[in-house]
Amino acid sequence: MSGSATSLDVVLARAARTPLALSEDELARLLNVEAPQELDALFAAAYALKLKCCGKGVAVRGLVEAGNICAKDCLYCGIRRSNAAVSRYSLAADEIVAAAEEAKAFGYASLVIQSGEIESEAHTRFIEEILQRIAPLDLGVTLSLGEQTEETYARWRAAGATRYLLRIETSNPNLYARLHPASCSWERRVECLHALRRTGYQVGTGVMCGLPGQTVDDLAADIRFYGELDVDMIGMGPYIPHPDTPLGQVAPALSDEARLLLGLKMIAATRLYLHDVNIAAATALQALAHDGRERGVKAGANVLMPNVTDRKYRRNYRLYANKPCLDETAALCRGCLDRRLSAIGEHLLYNQRGDSLHYRVRHCRFGQGLV
Ligand code: SAM
Ligand code: SF4
Repeated sequence: MSGSATSLDVVLARAARTPLALSEDELARLLNVEAPQELDALFAAAYALKLKCCGKGVAVRGLVEAGNICAKDCLYCGIRRSNAAVSRYSLAADEIVAAAEEAKAFGYASLVIQSGEIESEAHTRFIEEILQRIAPLDLGVTLSLGEQTEETYARWRAAGATRYLLRIETSNPNLYARLHPASCSWERRVECLHALRRTGYQVGTGVMCGLPGQTVDDLAADIRFYGELDVDMIGMGPYIPHPDTPLGQVAPALSDEARLLLGLKMIAATRLYLHDVNIAAATALQALAHDGRERGVKAGANVLMPNVTDRKYRRNYRLYANKPCLDETAALCRGCLDRRLSAIGEHLLYNQRGDSLHYRVRHCRFGQGLV
């Protein structure tokens, strides 16, 4: 029987029983759900699976926006190389180490270091030295520093990074080509994801949801792509136009509310398809609705990434319009998150790294050591 002819309850029950059980048509069916009762059923099934696979509680990573200097010109991104309106910065090593120490003091046992993409020996060495300096803090460290050579990934892994997030942005190479200059290669991005797996990282990827020209079938294929790559972590969120970018000049086909809802449905469908991976409720959800992150958790996400970057830099790391929490200190963000999560019966998992269960299961199965 085709996906559309099967009742939603039957599809949800089958998805919850077995990972990777749904066809692309059935994933598209979940993403097309609109009726309030069906949406409730979708989110409830995904949240129940989050509780079953990851338990109660939300893993937390302090996010360091290490710099906005980028060699690339992605057509959607506010810090793209050609945006002359951006005042460029790069945190000093001491500032990154101080942010890591603050995260540790808050009880955040994991850190994400993210920045524009720079490929150079000096940058590789800079990150390597920071990783070596923060190693005594014993934090789980995710890097999100774009495409690099396998050798660079291996050096950062050896210096202490344990996870890497590299969004594929879209699994459709034709759509990818419309969102990037010709110098960017979808194939290289996929190859980087394979290189990250080979070098022993917990590997994360993700897409933007609601991009101009993107279809629900594209998004269903994105979820299948996650499964085929056997990734450990997902970081995805709604696309939000930035006025100073080429794509920001194109009126989005979907409203803010529709892109938010699509982002939430993607979280739910991904949880139902992959089961035990870590899924982040991205900041972009919060940019579209004040309670966007909590709604992400109720749709099946189990990771949050409050910003621990010094406030004076935050305005210069604007990937999209309406970036939230520009003026809050890291301490205020933590208090706000605690309150917001307790309002939905959840809480942050302090002093726990929150490694991907999927990664641990794979490594135990193959008898490899854990990171
Ligand atoms: N430069 C690295 C890279 O591209 O992988 C890491 C940092 S980059 C700013 C992190 C993510 O921001 C990108 O993967 C992209 O999905 C997201 N992003 C950029 N512009 C966005 C926009 N306008 N709306 C939503 N997300 C955006
Ligand atoms: Fe640079 Fe990443 Fe933005 Fe692309 S998405 S322009 S690589 S920071």
